[in-house]
Amino acid sequence: MTRQDKLYDMLIIGGGPAGLTAAIYAARATMSVLVIESALSGGQIATTESLENYPGFPDGIGGIEFGQLLEAQARNFGAEMVLANVESMSVDGGIKEVHTTEGTFRGRTLLIASGTRSRTLDVPGEEELKGKGVSYCATCDGFFYQDREILVVGGGDSALEEGMYLTKFAAKVYIVHRRDQLRAVNLLQEKAKANPKIEFILETEVKEIKGTDRVESVVLHHKGQNKTWEMPIDGIFMYVGLIPNTEFLADSIEVDAYGYVLTNEEMETSVPGVFAAGDVRQKSLRQVVTAVADGAIAAVRAGQYVDEMKEKEAKQ
Ligand code: NAP
Repeated sequence: MTRQDKLYDMLIIGGGPAGLTAAIYAARATMSVLVIESALSGGQIATTESLENYPGFPDGIGGIEFGQLLEAQARNFGAEMVLANVESMSVDGGIKEVHTTEGTFRGRTLLIASGTRSRTLDVPGEEELKGKGVSYCATCDGFFYQDREILVVGGGDSALEEGMYLTKFAAKVYIVHRRDQLRAVNLLQEKAKANPKIEFILETEVKEIKGTDRVESVVLHHKGQNKTWEMPIDGIFMYVGLIPNTEFLADSIEVDAYGYVLTNEEMETSVPGVFAAGDVRQKSLRQVVTAVADGAIAAVRAGQYVDEMKEKEAKQ
């Protein structure tokens, strides 16, 4: 029987910490599980060099390694994985269908754990110079900037954490933030401010990225002083926030104004049998530790839903 012919107890969209934890819990509870992932296991965390605030790892753990361990644990309990892009889904009937580049998969329940992706700055030059000096992943591209000068855009946890990581390679890292106050937690602010290779440029916006074959300079504008200037730079890393990966939902379930999925405490969405977990959900704290907790709750509740469904099927 092919995967497309099977009726799974739980389909999971997304192989990040939320999706893979749900897979571990569900498969361990003897549910049949298929995880649909479009890239590397681990999701966004696979782009982090070291995960330092996940309990139980006092020396930190690499993001890629963490994703691989979660996947191995899910597979050990019998969860299946497929590499595919989700295009749309049909959730109005009892059986949920997920339409992907590898065909349609069917499940009694569906978990949306598709996470988020990096927001773009949307300034002239950004799109044209993507991969030619404009990057969204310090772990992936930092190595190419040995002894170079880099600009990091953003004032949140990611900008500071990744900016500090980039100082391993770069001679200088400028962190450009649009306000005079950083958004990042105090501990990160203190560490970044103490780093001699980091210089903050506050109250400043990136207006344009210039270069022919590669990034050569950026046009900056200081809002308070109303001053615009061009600064030579070798690379620019964007950390200006996240966008939920929810386009494939169309109007099938309720989302908030930003596209984050609305759930209750049981991770149930507006459609019975459809759950959401992790960063894709509207929530106040987007961390690996909250994502894995969401995944566990969703799997347990989905298990109860599947039992109820099977009882009804048996009576028919
Ligand atoms: P974030 O917290 O949303 O910060 C985005 C930053 O980009 C903000 O400083 C924001 O400025 C700025 N920004 C947004 N749009 C902009 C624009 N158009 N032009 C210029 N600047 C713009 O995003 P994040 O840093 O990626 O973090 C996302 C989540 O992951 C957060 O919940 C964070 O706590 C978590 N995270 C945690 C860790 C950790 O615990 N170690 C590490 C990384 C991320 P304003 O401040 O003016 O809005």
